[in-house]
This record gives sequence, structure tokens and C-alpha cells, in this order.
Amino acid sequence: MSKHTILFACGHIADAEVEGSEYEKKQKLIYLKICGRCPDCEKKYRENRGATSGEDR
Ligand SMILES: [Zn+2]
Repeated sequence: MSKHTILFACGHIADAEVEGSEYEKKQKLIYLKICGRCPDCEKKYRENRGATSGEDR
């Protein structure tokens, strides 16, 4: 696992941990930059969903 400081799609900068091969890590970082949420926004997003469904996924 390696840590990267990236600018998420939500507009915030945070650390993201990615694992896998060099190629997989690259793909995950690209994904996070395009449509990922920083940990804060991800948490808020989950809380909002949890309020209605009560399920995490
Ligand atoms: Zn954010």
C-alpha cells in the first residue's frame, strides 16, 4: 500500500492509499481524481445514504 496526496473530484486535497500493481495504482488514482471523494465527503455521503437506507452498500 502506498500513500498519495491527490486532488479529489470534490475539490479537496487529501491522502489516499492505493494498493495493487503500478498499473492498478495509476488507474485508481485517475479514478479518484475524476470521480472520487475525499474521506470527509465520502463520510458525509455515506451518512446521508445511511439516514435513508440504513445499509452501507
Ligand atoms: Zn471533499
